[in-house]
Amino acid sequence: MSKRNHEVRCKGCGAKLADLARDGLTIRRGKLQATITGAYHVSLVCYRPHCGTLNVVRHDSLPWDANAAA
Ligand SMILES: [Zn+2]
Repeated sequence: MSKRNHEVRCKGCGAKLADLARDGLTIRRGKLQATITGAYHVSLVCYRPHCGTLNVVRHDSLPWDANAAA
């Protein structure tokens, strides 16, 4: 199992927004699940009513992708 998975948390309140893993960024909310792969620039607005902080997650090219594409 990869140990590179980690959580994306709101910079304002610390709420968990997404999981960042080797194979992409995964967002789960209720029964909705979205997985974003490749190069991306995602803007996430915190779901907490009194937070609403904008969080940006970028993924251009990380070493593991370079290995996968070779
Ligand atoms: Zn928040």
